Amino acid sequence: HHHIDHATLEKVHAAIAAGHTHATVPEYEGYDAYIADGGYASLKSLRENGDWEKIQETVMDAGLRGLGGAGFPSGKKWGFVRANEGTRYLAVNGDEGEPGTFKDRYYLERTPHLFLEGMLIAAWAVEAETCFIYMRDEYPAVLHILAEEIRALEEAGLVAKGYIDLRRGAGAYICGEESAMIESIEGKRGLPRHRPPFVAQVGIFGKPTLVHNVETLKWVARIVREGPEVLSSTEKNGRKGLRSYSISGRVKKPGVHLLPAGSTIMDLIEASGGMIDGHTFKAYQPGGPSAGLLPASINDVPMDFDTLQPLGTFIGSAAVVILSDKDSARGAALNMLRFFEDESCGQCTPCRVGCEKAVKLMQADKWDQPLLEELCTAMGDASICGLGQAAPNPIRMTMKHFADEV
Ligand code: SF4
Repeated sequence: HHHIDHATLEKVHAAIAAGHTHATVPEYEGYDAYIADGGYASLKSLRENGDWEKIQETVMDAGLRGLGGAGFPSGKKWGFVRANEGTRYLAVNGDEGEPGTFKDRYYLERTPHLFLEGMLIAAWAVEAETCFIYMRDEYPAVLHILAEEIRALEEAGLVAKGYIDLRRGAGAYICGEESAMIESIEGKRGLPRHRPPFVAQVGIFGKPTLVHNVETLKWVARIVREGPEVLSSTEKNGRKGLRSYSISGRVKKPGVHLLPAGSTIMDLIEASGGMIDGHTFKAYQPGGPSAGLLPASINDVPMDFDTLQPLGTFIGSAAVVILSDKDSARGAALNMLRFFEDESCGQCTPCRVGCEKAVKLMQADKWDQPLLEELCTAMGDASICGLGQAAPNPIRMTMKHFADEV
């Protein structure tokens, strides 16, 4: 894990100039353009005479929930962190490693300052001493943009030098789990911690830490600037708000689509230009591999927090993958378990050994379903973190909804 310091940035620039890098940096809204558009006015006025509890209320009124996957009410988190005295930190989880998720990258490569301002507003609200940004190293353009724009903020005097500490991940999916990310920020191997204590109380170097996802912070900036209605005024199918769905698979226009949180899978497919010609909608991954697979017949449920729970799944970070009649559900489930087997940090047996056993059992022509069910129970009950706890989902959902394939 490395710091991006200015010397490194200089080297990156030199490398780009010499053509020694593959980081293609897209056109994006830089500091000057953001300022010209009224950027950082909210932050400046809050720092002058803002009331953090008022802002917390605004964020709660908007209904903002953590968009990294857990869906915890963002304003509430601020209160938990503020409740602790002494040094507090803010950490941004930019590890976006969930297969099928790319919304954070999408926003960071377009409007990085909206995110940075949201981060600084949240940091102001909890009086964070330092902001750590834990960024996925597989996003070279994003790292480049952030290093550059953080420097612009320092030069403009909006933050002290070093106040924003940009860290590079090293490719481990588990470091997107917030306590493993914190271990990694501390310079240790990314192993998830037992909870309690929660990171809001005991986080980076034992200090209370506010952890937010990139997109969540982008919304903080917009809510503070435009009012809570920017999220709360959209209503569909009894659900409020907007959601950035990362949609991929057998659709004509995959990508990030900002839609009402009450959208169904059929709305998502429609927004993605429909199915590719010659493909019939068969199944979908509603929220990353941990959410398993649902059949096309379940197509009228809002793709939102809470609403998928009765189906034994969740929306998570809204990484939606559309499968067609040309795809095998059992093949997709096996692929998901292989991913978990690779990415398990290995510190607890039910997950480390369970994923490996599951992969073996799922390769049989006919699945030993009672044995797999027993394995799922052990993994779900006894794993330390979400990876091992949710790894049974693709297995169980495939047995339930695609019984003819297994
Ligand atoms: Fe590591 Fe898996 Fe245990 Fe999580 S459940 S701590 S990934 S071994």
